[in-house]
Amino acid sequence: MLLEQESHMTPQEISPWLSRQRLEIIFTLITLVSSLTAFFGNNIGLSAEIIAGLYVLAFLCGGYYGLLDAISLLKAGNLDVNLLMILAALGAAAIGQPAEGATLLFLFSLSNTLQAYSMDRSRRAIANLLDLRPSQADVRRGANWVNVPVEELVIDDNVRVRPGERFPIDGNIITGSSMVDQSPITGESIPVFKQTGDPVFAGTVNGNGAVEVLVTHTPEDSTLARIVQMVEEAQGSKAKTQRTLDRFEQYYSIAILLSTALLILIPYLFLGESFKPAFYRGMILLVVASPCALVISTPASILSAIANGARNGVLFKGGAHLESTAGIKIVAFDKTGTLTTGQPGLQTLIPYGDTSSEELLKMAAAAESHSEHLLAKSIMRAAEEQGLDIPATGEFQAVPGHGVEAEIEGSTYLVGNPRLFELKEIKIPADLTAQVGIMENKGETLILAYGAGKWLGALGVADTLRSDAGDHIRALKKLGVQHVVMLTGDHSGVAKNIAAQAGVDEYYADLLPQDKVRILKELQEKYGAAAMVGDGVNDAPALATAEVGIAMGGAGTDVALETADVVLMADNLANLPHAIGLAKKAQRVVWQNLAFSIAVIIILIVGTFAAGLSLPLGVVGHEGSTVIVVLNGLRLLGYRPKI
Ligand code: ADP
Ligand code: MG
Repeated sequence: MLLEQESHMTPQEISPWLSRQRLEIIFTLITLVSSLTAFFGNNIGLSAEIIAGLYVLAFLCGGYYGLLDAISLLKAGNLDVNLLMILAALGAAAIGQPAEGATLLFLFSLSNTLQAYSMDRSRRAIANLLDLRPSQADVRRGANWVNVPVEELVIDDNVRVRPGERFPIDGNIITGSSMVDQSPITGESIPVFKQTGDPVFAGTVNGNGAVEVLVTHTPEDSTLARIVQMVEEAQGSKAKTQRTLDRFEQYYSIAILLSTALLILIPYLFLGESFKPAFYRGMILLVVASPCALVISTPASILSAIANGARNGVLFKGGAHLESTAGIKIVAFDKTGTLTTGQPGLQTLIPYGDTSSEELLKMAAAAESHSEHLLAKSIMRAAEEQGLDIPATGEFQAVPGHGVEAEIEGSTYLVGNPRLFELKEIKIPADLTAQVGIMENKGETLILAYGAGKWLGALGVADTLRSDAGDHIRALKKLGVQHVVMLTGDHSGVAKNIAAQAGVDEYYADLLPQDKVRILKELQEKYGAAAMVGDGVNDAPALATAEVGIAMGGAGTDVALETADVVLMADNLANLPHAIGLAKKAQRVVWQNLAFSIAVIIILIVGTFAAGLSLPLGVVGHEGSTVIVVLNGLRLLGYRPKI
């Protein structure tokens, strides 16, 4: 198929003026004009030689690319429908029906051209994202600002971006603040406030403020460039249905060639029929039975769906993941940072013994200073807000699902949940345990701090549910997800609270990372395929265990981009129903296409034998169904969930 040839081309290769695509259009037109002229040749007084020459021209132009594709596949030992079509056209010419052969080749190359055009449209929908990035940037060189091509920017350059301009590069704001429209990357329509220290991404639109940005990624490595690259890879990778179809096409093509031969030879050799009508019937079978529409039905839909996703902040890492997303029965959410805002606030400080509140917060922050965990960040933030002088940390170790262990001023400090102290066999004093109960009842996440051989106290952190989490969970149910659960390493008091507010069916608390993996496996056995939604940072094992791992907040976090099967670019849940709805819709379209193309083949075959269908009608039915299937797939480009 032409499609397979082109799927390895990058958009840059497709774009030159005299590209294969342009030439194909020209060749198709030549085929049309020369066959029409030849057809009416007698009426306008052309000689027989000229008419024959025109047909030869029509055949050459109409069959050129099909033949090239067929030959390159034949070399690899594969048969395909191109070959069937060319044989049929030559066959028609051989029995003195050059007009039929030319019509066949014209429609064949027309439908190939239309296919290439529409598939290209899906692909270009993504490549065009890169054009969002300005080609020039204002960069500081010494005391001056110089306008340079983006390619010349290097990491640590200072770039100036004026209000209304697009960011040329990924970086962190170092002066100024602004509202930034990140929709090209995250799909979220509401601008985000950004100030000093916040990351900005190439291709997003600077709102009202002038800002200076410290470059953190080279142009080829920007989030936008990597999205485009990943989507191109995803579109090149095959879905399971498609791989099955590819294999099927081989056997099917051979079967059709054999049947055609038999259909011609048996009546001719054994039933006393003359050669011409038998041959003509064989040629019709060859044409109508070619599974063009069948072969294109899946890739046409999947390309469009992946393109739709990328434009709406949902990155499917391949057709196979799109397919498995369509089949999920259960969605499991991580709690912290996924269902909750990920900006937990410090609520309670309970110093123990002779430790002061400041001392407790200061040392806890020091111990947490190297941790990536959201709880650690909230403690750091609180300490910084109080202007505390945080001591330097020496050796540091994160204990996943428990807390941290750090060396400060020569002593060991432990900060984490009660499980951490069980693990380290340090007994929690009774009066501190009593505080723990009170805090849990308030729904706060408890963190205990111990260091230099004595207890420092407890910290209570409250994490709030994302305001729209409930809506999105309801939307998932409407889309046919049967069961929604929450998995968390937090204690059950907090978990119960959040689970009730969010409206999940079930929750599991006090889980270690390996427990999440085990529970996911159990749930998948019970309910069927699961999607795990997490932030991708400390949920990698669970994301890998689930049939579909969905990471949130892909813009800016490299880990999420790499580890998940599906990435939601925005740091919120709004795109989750879109991802699942799109996958389900894509699957419906694939099935429609498969059913339709099989039905057309059956009708045409039956029509050929029962109703004596003529070759031109067969050709129109065959090519028409191919175009319809491609157009049906293109509908997915415009999909939006109805919620
Ligand atoms: P979740 O499943 O809610 O995302 P995690 O598995 O990341 O939670 O962590 C589970 C629990 O482990 C937290 O609720 C907390 O009690 C403890 N914990 C993990 N990391 C830290 C840390 N850096 N500081 C304090 N406590 C931590
Ligand atoms: Mg987490």
